[in-house]
Amino acid sequence: MRLNMENITIRLPDGSSRNFPKKTSLHEIANKINGGSGKNFVAGKINGRLVDMSYLLEQNADVVFITRDSEEGVDITRHSASHIMAQAVKELYKGVKISIGPTTDNGFYYDFDCEDSFSLEDMDKVESMMQELIGRDLPIIRKDIPKEEAISLFKERNETYKLELLEDIPDDVVSVYVQGDFVDLCRGPHLPSTGRLKAFKLTSVAGAYWRGDEKNKMLQRIYGTAFPDSKSLRKHLQRLEEAKKRDHRKLGKSLDLFSIHEDAGAGLVIYHPKGAMLRTILEDFEKREHFKRGYQLVKGPHLLKSDLWEKSGHFDNYRENMYFTEIDGQKYGIKPMNCLAHMLIYKSRTRSYRDLPQRYFELGTVHRHEKSGVLHGLLRVREFTQDDAHILCTPDQLGQEIKGVIDFVQDVMKIFGFEYEMALSTRPDKSIGSEEQWEKATSSLKEVLENNNLSYEINEGDGAFYGPKIDVILKDALDRKWQCATIQCDFILPERFDLTFIDSHGTKQRPVMLHRVILGAMERFMGVLIEHYGGAFPTWLAPVQAVILTVTDRSIEFADEVYGRLTSSLLRVEKDFRNEKLGLKIREAQLQKIPYMLVIGDKESNDRVLSPRMRNGKTLKPVKIDEFIALVQQECRDRR
Ligand SMILES: [Zn+2]
Ligand SMILES: [Zn+2]
Repeated sequence: MRLNMENITIRLPDGSSRNFPKKTSLHEIANKINGGSGKNFVAGKINGRLVDMSYLLEQNADVVFITRDSEEGVDITRHSASHIMAQAVKELYKGVKISIGPTTDNGFYYDFDCEDSFSLEDMDKVESMMQELIGRDLPIIRKDIPKEEAISLFKERNETYKLELLEDIPDDVVSVYVQGDFVDLCRGPHLPSTGRLKAFKLTSVAGAYWRGDEKNKMLQRIYGTAFPDSKSLRKHLQRLEEAKKRDHRKLGKSLDLFSIHEDAGAGLVIYHPKGAMLRTILEDFEKREHFKRGYQLVKGPHLLKSDLWEKSGHFDNYRENMYFTEIDGQKYGIKPMNCLAHMLIYKSRTRSYRDLPQRYFELGTVHRHEKSGVLHGLLRVREFTQDDAHILCTPDQLGQEIKGVIDFVQDVMKIFGFEYEMALSTRPDKSIGSEEQWEKATSSLKEVLENNNLSYEINEGDGAFYGPKIDVILKDALDRKWQCATIQCDFILPERFDLTFIDSHGTKQRPVMLHRVILGAMERFMGVLIEHYGGAFPTWLAPVQAVILTVTDRSIEFADEVYGRLTSSLLRVEKDFRNEKLGLKIREAQLQKIPYMLVIGDKESNDRVLSPRMRNGKTLKPVKIDEFIALVQQECRDRR
């Protein structure tokens, strides 16, 4: 029996406790309590802190084991995959320097300083070297060493980027991870050995500046992803493939919806007829939904005097995103937001508590200077139109108004088939107003979320400069997340613009202002919709709902009559009367993802009927023209 053997007590998530000798590793503990199944775990948590399975327990602690398929487990697997990739690259290419290799939402990357640029063939080579390293099942070992020792270690290895990173670390002791000949400066934790990486794939190569600064050297970034098992990796890769097919920039071109021309300006969208139609349908939909909920349509100017932007705080807090111009010696700002005109409407007369809430809605086109590097198709642009509204209400009405907006968002998202999550964003560094105003606004939003049992995350410091907000994050058909709707609560601008109402005792009070969008920017929402539906819009949204295809010229007369009848009933119809093979015309219509094809041959002309053929290849029984019109109109009413 060993002398001095102290015991420590660990507490497990189920509340049970176990005793072990001091300096027992998590790995041993897992094996003991799980009957030798410690292999299911990739790491552990000691009093909430993530550690390796090799960690030796020194004190009593709460212990949680991390399974490989948990969110944290997957992240650890990806981080280890990035190290194994870096090791493979260093084995294959001499003189490569490593910089950073973090995980991302869907995978990982590592940035390398390398003379030659990596090609796709290199990726295959790196992947096979990774397989070899996995086959060797090298232990991944953590070492806590004095910072000075780490500096000489990385100096010896000529890893200058690691030396730069070390300069920024204030601690006296740092951790490095070693596997075979490979050493990385890293906090960990990691998989116990390289053999524990089961499923990975390198996905792409790109340039990336060291520390994201374009004044620094351009490094080469290799992206990859890893999963706990090959089945989930396969599923993920299929989803990536599908996402590529649905890319709205690609579909926008093939469906002839919109274009962006460098000659006209980056981030400026030009709508083609079908894209403009899609946008019109969405705008009409929006107007009706707003009118139903007691909003009034308003319209403000694009230019407002700079003095007004100074008063609102935009000049101090938002100037770098704004465009300015000068007319007759007077400076003007091009609006990046629609709030100011709406406040001037409110202020144009005396308001009584009986007039509130006032809900002003505008399809407001705004301009914001986004950096050219972040522009992306319809998703990030410099000119866009928001379905923007400002609700001015009494403090008592605030809760019900916020609830009304949340209900509005929920109704609309159901129509488009989006699932959603909510997040509450709090005060950013750059902001106006007092602590008390922010506190009041934040708790108003929180209260509505909590009273209605809506779950939400908190995004610290992500609010607008004039108030906190609730963001609604959509999940599309491929489970990707998009932020569209927001509700911002603002006690500050009503004060700056001295907005008032007369309460029931005849005294002046301050209204509260909600800034909110439902779809957000129309451009962005359209981009999301295109990808969500893969370009196959439901009938109510489709810019072209039906195309009329003639079999021979003998059918043109009846086909023309059909076209006239459908068009005058406001169906969105195209005709294809070309002297081409029917098979080709059908194929083209299918590529255009038009919901209905109406093939008109001798039989249809003689019987004066339509035989609608659906996008998915299904055909309907022959129907009269009126019946077809009624069918499409019903689908539009049902928003199908
Ligand atoms: Zn690392
Ligand atoms: Zn606003």
